[in-house]
Amino acid sequence: MAAVKNSLPRRQFDVVVVGAGGAGMRCSLQLAQAGLSVAVLSKVFPTRSHTVAAQGGVSASLGNMSEDNWYWHMYDTVKGSDWLGDQDAIEFMCREAPNAVYELEHFGMPFDRNPDGTIYQRPFGGHTANFGEKPVQRACAAADRTGHAMLHTLYQRNVAARTQFFVEWMALDLLRNDAGDVLGVTALEMETGEIYVLEAKQTVLATGGAGRIWAASTNAFINTGDGLGMAARAGFPLQDMEFWQFHPTGVAGAGVLITEGVRGEGGILLNKDGERFMERYAPTLKDLAPRDFVSRSMDQEIKEGRGCGDGSYVVLKLDHLGAETIQKRLPSIREIAIKFANVDPAKDPIPVVPTIHYQMGGIPTNIYGQVVSVANGETTPVNGLYAIGECAATSVHGANRLGTNSLLDLIVFGRSAGNHIVESHPERQRSHQSIPESAIDFSLDRVNKLETRTDGEKTQDVGNAIRMAMQHHCGVFRTLDLLNKGVDAIESLAPQVDSLYFKDKSKVFNTARIEALEVTNMIEVARATTKSAANRTESRGAHALNDHPERDDVNWLRHTMWFSEGSRLDYKPVQMKPLTVDSFPPKSRTF
Ligand SMILES: Cc1cc2nc3c(=O)[nH]c(=O)nc-3n(C[C@H](O)[C@H](O)[C@H](O)COP(=O)(O)OP(=O)(O)OC[C@H]3O[C@@H](n4cnc5c(N)ncnc54)[C@H](O)[C@@H]3O)c2cc1C
Repeated sequence: MAAVKNSLPRRQFDVVVVGAGGAGMRCSLQLAQAGLSVAVLSKVFPTRSHTVAAQGGVSASLGNMSEDNWYWHMYDTVKGSDWLGDQDAIEFMCREAPNAVYELEHFGMPFDRNPDGTIYQRPFGGHTANFGEKPVQRACAAADRTGHAMLHTLYQRNVAARTQFFVEWMALDLLRNDAGDVLGVTALEMETGEIYVLEAKQTVLATGGAGRIWAASTNAFINTGDGLGMAARAGFPLQDMEFWQFHPTGVAGAGVLITEGVRGEGGILLNKDGERFMERYAPTLKDLAPRDFVSRSMDQEIKEGRGCGDGSYVVLKLDHLGAETIQKRLPSIREIAIKFANVDPAKDPIPVVPTIHYQMGGIPTNIYGQVVSVANGETTPVNGLYAIGECAATSVHGANRLGTNSLLDLIVFGRSAGNHIVESHPERQRSHQSIPESAIDFSLDRVNKLETRTDGEKTQDVGNAIRMAMQHHCGVFRTLDLLNKGVDAIESLAPQVDSLYFKDKSKVFNTARIEALEVTNMIEVARATTKSAANRTESRGAHALNDHPERDDVNWLRHTMWFSEGSRLDYKPVQMKPLTVDSFPPKSRTF
């Protein structure tokens, strides 16, 4: 039964936040505490957002274990990003980090403690003291359940601040007026199948990552890139979508994540000869080199015939840490290894392979989280739209993210976007602007076509085809030939997405409808990724191209901007100038 636009129920809020992960809830907390009316939408119960699965920690130069400072953290992040990160945003994040973490501590987040009562910190890949001299302990941890502790803390605080949660609501499309301002979203109440118009003076996208466009992923099944799809369909660019991080240690065959915290605690990677091969690739940081580096080294070992078992994986050894440390610091890892790899890591090593994990690119924003549009190299903030967390490219991670910098990104920029909205609230839009019917029509037509189609492509088939195409064409090592074939494969699937069909038309909690809508978002992310990747003829961070193995700062020290219409590309300069300190100029990246 098709919905009719005039009869759509409407609700009005000061702010609609799409996404109840760490980013969305850190932002909504700031807003609700300031007295704004805030709606937070989530496809799942808030505390089931993917942030809950974050294991290893959140970075901040607290210096609890040894000397540390934000400037070293900034250097590591710039270098980790392979100089594609914007240095103003990176300075902002690293400076704010200690405050943002102490704030969480004061909210009641149950961090692990040192004997003197300070927050426990562990080493993580690419985080160093004194500009790369040696690993530093910077990751603030709650055992191997840091995201769980963070998300529950934020949820409780939001409940206390009277944030209004719309649980199991799926946002469908952004609503814009002729001036291009964003005025809210259309959204599906999953329980009833009803579509609503949610009017907002400000809309915040916090929809998380899209790792589920690959077949093997550490991501939650809900990570289908909905916010990216919404932005792309509304005409906004997606930035740096060629950069996706493979996490070195997904359980072989299962994809489930084994935190880098294992290596932080002293775990090591071995090949079939029992050799600690990372010593050869990264003599200083060894197993704690950044993720792109370690993933490629593992891939190399496997390709050169030094993989373990059937030759398709390497192993992660941690039994030498002792059963007691494993139980205290890494209890969930032990459980995951037993359940998904059938090994007890207190006795035997865990089989691991690089697995897609994190998107560095996303919806472009400034340091206040305002989405920016790009024309002729100039960026302008979009009225009424913010993006934060993994769906945003702020860009602090550039071409490669350092572990534990994402949880940090969520709380720093979630807070910063919240503050910016609160500060600009009084002088902006005292009442809601009227939403053009055509904007609502566009969204409704999309859904109605899906609802009324009686024949076409099965959602599962098209979804699988996208996941397999990405898996095959966009791996740890890439070639232009493979990437171009990937562009063709994905573009040839786009028409199939336009004729998706599902048999069960019932309204109440119809997951077939939801999956189909998710696939319409996945295709945008896959198109952006393949097109941007096939275009960048250099190797930088996570984008490793066999045909062009070197970084090319002359031609490629710039952000890619992809537009859905015509799969058009544009560029934006990298912000090399930090806020207050001197710039870190590009140099070669060895560890
Ligand atoms: C297994 C794993 C372990 C990790 N460990 C760490 C770590 O130790 N340290 C670290 O720094 N980073 C880690 N990361 C990365 C980090 O956890 C994520 O980048 C981060 O949690 C993303 O947070 P977010 O708030 O942006 O989105 P998420 O937490 O993914 O939340 C997204 C929200 O958006 C909602 N949503 C999505 N689409 C819609 C829609 N259409 N309508 C309504 N709601 C929608 C979802 O329901 C959800 O509430 C890890 C990631 C994974 C997968």
